[in-house]
Amino acid sequence: MTMETGVVVRWLVSEGDVIKTGDIIFEVETDKTTMEVDALEDGTVLKLYYPEGAVVPVNTPVAYVGEKDERIPELSEFVPDPDAVSAGSAAAGSDAPAAEVKAEIKEEEKAPEITYDYDLTVIGAGPGGYVAALRAAQMGKRVVIIEKNELGGTCLNRGCIPTKSLYACAREWRRVNGAKSFGITVEGAAFDWEKINGRTKKVVKKLTGGVGALLKRGGVEIVIAEAKVADAHTVIADGVSYNTANVLIATGTTPAKVLRDMGDIDVLDTDRALFLDKLPESIAIVGGGVIGVEMANIFSAFGVKVTVIELMDRILPMTDEEISDTLTKKLKRLGVEIITGKSVVSGKMAEGKAVLALSDGSTVEAESVLEAVGRCVADGAFSELPLKRSAKGFVEVDDATLETSIKNVYAIGDITGRLQLAHVASEQGVAAVEHMFEGKRATVHPVPSCIFTEPEIAFVGIAEAQAKAEGKDVKTAKFPFAANGKALTLGETEGFVKVVADARYGEILGVHIIGPEASSLIAEAVVAMDCECTVESFAGIVHGHPTLAEAVKEAVLGVGTGSLHI
Ligand SMILES: Cc1cc2nc3c(=O)[nH]c(=O)nc-3n(C[C@H](O)[C@H](O)[C@H](O)COP(=O)(O)OP(=O)(O)OC[C@H]3O[C@@H](n4cnc5c(N)ncnc54)[C@H](O)[C@@H]3O)c2cc1C
Repeated sequence: MTMETGVVVRWLVSEGDVIKTGDIIFEVETDKTTMEVDALEDGTVLKLYYPEGAVVPVNTPVAYVGEKDERIPELSEFVPDPDAVSAGSAAAGSDAPAAEVKAEIKEEEKAPEITYDYDLTVIGAGPGGYVAALRAAQMGKRVVIIEKNELGGTCLNRGCIPTKSLYACAREWRRVNGAKSFGITVEGAAFDWEKINGRTKKVVKKLTGGVGALLKRGGVEIVIAEAKVADAHTVIADGVSYNTANVLIATGTTPAKVLRDMGDIDVLDTDRALFLDKLPESIAIVGGGVIGVEMANIFSAFGVKVTVIELMDRILPMTDEEISDTLTKKLKRLGVEIITGKSVVSGKMAEGKAVLALSDGSTVEAESVLEAVGRCVADGAFSELPLKRSAKGFVEVDDATLETSIKNVYAIGDITGRLQLAHVASEQGVAAVEHMFEGKRATVHPVPSCIFTEPEIAFVGIAEAQAKAEGKDVKTAKFPFAANGKALTLGETEGFVKVVADARYGEILGVHIIGPEASSLIAEAVVAMDCECTVESFAGIVHGHPTLAEAVKEAVLGVGTGSLHI
């Protein structure tokens, strides 16, 4: 289902050959396999549309079989743009088929080659932009990357890394407080918020410095300035014009601001909330999505009274229901108040506290308010470019090439409106560059999502409810960490692994984990799904003991022959 192209490896017939149903006519190679393709009808091979080595999109005719003297349709009658197909390197001899002949004619008609100062200009040095620049440099291209703030983008400076540093501190502090259950007495334990903040800044600095070093080592020119795309081959920054063969826009997003009528409340966004000089005594977090719950987990660890207000009927609405239920219960046990199905309609300051009025007429009081309701496209670099955009302002791209509606202008990362995750941005960056310089088309791969709460959450593929809504016939099974030896030794027995598999063929369609090290455990599920692994083949994979990964295997066994340890 995920294949997009195939390579015509070898023709086993020639034009004029008379063939019978079942005769092998050619070999095709895809990213999964190489196979022989047989004739579906008797007839005469009237036309081979592609030479050996051609990369052809799926569902494209490669040959025409019919009656002798029948009119042979042009390839363009089937395919809107036959020239978009790569003719490949293997030549097909003197009677070369149409696609190759066309390619030769095009060569002659080609206008004189225009030269550019750069092969690629990247705008934005987040995980999308800087990884794309590194890959292009690796391919020997002349690359300039233009960043208006710090290298590393949202991820390193205001997102993944500072949250995970604070998460690590929160986890450590909870461990210290829970040491008693391990027979360890800790006296005089305390945390120092200033030092925690300092540690986070140090981690960020080390990583952003690392990105700079990697780019320099790769020979990428770094420019710190605000950039604007003038046209497909011109980018302007700081009054300098960059003449470039390709432009890659990776400008990311900024925190969305939807709260209205908030009086004189100083509403925090995540950019500021990650680096507070002083912890508030209480905080109301508007938004129970990934960022909202991660921040709730962090603040609650340090004794802040947290209230999460979520518009939907549950926090983390994008996760499996059982996972969001488990986390809700855990956060409540940690003292977090969770209000769902309500929105904030207004707010004001009263006696030094923010008072938020909710849609049902109730109020929430807190010292600080954090708005964590999503992200807006940062479009300053391309606001005047006639790029095709979605209703929400995301830049529309072809998922296989990452090219926008303007040739030679590519877009990746958060601005494309796909999953707003750092690893998605990076993979898109590599795919864009490989299409730009090698003509490769990206294929679809399962993407994991990780949420850093206690316990951690990670998932890949479809959830049970989604499978059922789509009418898929699935089997599910769950294995609790309470029955896993390693989890017991760690004292982290909350949560489970849940597997969703196709009922008929046993293909693993989704894995959902809430529990210790879920963010690392999910990698195994991603590999299994990428390899289209079935429940049966997974059951034969040997797992070390005692490990948390055994819980993944047990959950998979649960949809097959049955879990053994429960
Ligand atoms: C609090 C928080 C926690 C997160 N945690 C995770 C996590 O744990 N895991 C995960 O996978 N994802 C996480 N994310 C999401 C992740 O940060 C983003 O998906 C990722 O950073 C997107 O990468 P990007 O390259 O598209 O854009 P960005 O990282 O946003 O980078 C864009 C860059 O472009 C620059 N720029 C913008 N306009 C211009 C211009 N005109 N000229 C020059 N430069 C410009 C910006 O300054 C910025 O540096 C988190 C996000 C937040 C906010």
